[in-house]
Amino acid sequence: MPGAHLILTVDVEEWFHVCGHPAYDVPDRWGAFPSRVVPSTERILELLDRTSSHATFFVLGWVARRHPDLVRRIAGAGHEVGCHGDLHRRADAMTSDEFRADLRAARAALENACGAPVTAYRAPEWSLRSTSSPHLATLVEEGFRVDSSLLAVPPIGDPDNPRRPTVLKMPAGDLLEVPPFVGTFFGRPAMLGGGWTSRLSREARVAAAVEAAFGSGENPVFYLHPWEVDEEHPPMELSPVARLVHFGGRGRVVPRLLRLLSRHRAHSLAEAFPAGCLPREVAA
Ligand SMILES: [Zn+2]
Repeated sequence: MPGAHLILTVDVEEWFHVCGHPAYDVPDRWGAFPSRVVPSTERILELLDRTSSHATFFVLGWVARRHPDLVRRIAGAGHEVGCHGDLHRRADAMTSDEFRADLRAARAALENACGAPVTAYRAPEWSLRSTSSPHLATLVEEGFRVDSSLLAVPPIGDPDNPRRPTVLKMPAGDLLEVPPFVGTFFGRPAMLGGGWTSRLSREARVAAAVEAAFGSGENPVFYLHPWEVDEEHPPMELSPVARLVHFGGRGRVVPRLLRLLSRHRAHSLAEAFPAGCLPREVAA
């Protein structure tokens, strides 16, 4: 169907980038943990190459400073490099000045590494929360064109958040919001495009929802993390709930992704929404 694409996004971070965890959310300690981001991201690059797919890779500034070659390789393979913030801090826990500084630090690291403008953003843990976040205006002021951070699934995001690509009108200009693919899990609104609720849903159910989305001209947005495909993921100290969220159904990610991409070639956000080509839905 013209205009309807499967969109794939990858949040490029280390396995220990867990917001709010007392043992892991401590940037001073990150250098002491074994780094796994390069081989696990390479595994995703290989899967995409094998299926002639492209994706938007939202890379942390912290990762780009340590592994600029990885960012160059992502861009060199035809994928879009986007920004996942600098230190994986939740956006709604930062002041406007802190958010702007985090954004600038990350963008500088990413653009230094890949040599191209970075104009797409995803907040760690969907932490922009709602269209009333003042940080959305900051994104436009800082030159970002696309955001993919608003999830219409409470309590993570406002249930009134857009469920389709929507142009948000800001004083400094337009921001295209491209939300992740949402469906239901045990009768409640839930992420279907990635994460633990998607991994624990039946594959046929997710596949049927994808086909229904295409049938109504939607662009289902999937996402994954390098640590979800890492066969040498280090052990972690997590509560039972956090363990389910992080590890539950992880072994299904690669085979399911391969089957999905064999049916529908994936695109980056930049390919699905070229500059100047915006969707119909406009929010004031
Ligand atoms: Zn993240």
